[in-house]
Amino acid sequence: MFIMQYEVTCISCKRTFKLYEGEEQYKQFKECKSHLFYCDNCKHKIRFDAIRNFFSSY
Ligand SMILES: [Zn+2]
Repeated sequence: MFIMQYEVTCISCKRTFKLYEGEEQYKQFKECKSHLFYCDNCKHKIRFDAIRNFFSSY
C-alpha cells in the first residue's frame, strides 16, 4: 500500500522528517497553511517547556 508523505525539515533541530497522510501537519502542508514544522521530538520539548514555564510563573 502506498502512503502519501512529505519530507520536511524541522525548524528547530534542522532534521529531516516525514509527514504522513492523516496527520495534522500533513494537512497544513498540503493546504499551504504552514511550511514551518517541528519534528515530534521538538514538539514534545516545546510543549514540555511551555508547561514548565506556565507552572514556574506562579
Ligand atoms: Zn526537531
